[in-house]
Amino acid sequence: MSRYTGPKCKLCRREGMKLFLKGARCETSAKCAIARRAHPPGEHPWTRKKRSEYGLQLREKQKAKRIYGVYEKPFRNLFKTAAAMKGNTGENLVQLLERRLDNVIYLAGFAHSRAHARQQIVHGHIDVNGKRCKSPARRLRPGDTFRIADREKSRKAAEVTLEYTKSRSIPAWLEVEASEFRGKVSELPKKEEASIDLQEQLIVEFCSK
Ligand code: SF4
Repeated sequence: MSRYTGPKCKLCRREGMKLFLKGARCETSAKCAIARRAHPPGEHPWTRKKRSEYGLQLREKQKAKRIYGVYEKPFRNLFKTAAAMKGNTGENLVQLLERRLDNVIYLAGFAHSRAHARQQIVHGHIDVNGKRCKSPARRLRPGDTFRIADREKSRKAAEVTLEYTKSRSIPAWLEVEASEFRGKVSELPKKEEASIDLQEQLIVEFCSK
């Protein structure tokens, strides 16, 4: 399935859940279209049928794909990698998604949203381990460092963003020095530290079929 490119709040309405696609706007219930709505989506919201087990699994997989901004094929590849790793496949999958560079840049407060982080990366505003990195899907490891590129244009835009995101809490697995525009992955993220509340077991069941 291709990535949805229409208005972001419309996608949340269609899926009937918060997908956190618009950065700061998603954090305030006054501006979020889903938080303001008093009923489920659709023309006859109260007569909707209960979802089947398959429907619940599909919905959880779609939710993960849309929130993290991953296409179907890379998501399937990520699942294969998670399944080949030691330990719980669902937890491995969440960890792989959390370690994506675009997610890390967002969590560090260097971007309003994951989509904004992807844009920053492909436009060359982000360095990883001292070198320019233009791949939002790059998987960071403990010890990897990231920073806003040492260019006036990049830093000025980052200053504005950091002003907006300074009240956000940063996960314990990241060390961020906002004043220096840099950060570091200190350890692997644990399942309970994931930025999104996912029922990963449903995704595993769906992708294992
Ligand atoms: Fe979705 Fe609400 Fe964010 Fe709009 S503001 S993208 S409805 S979570």
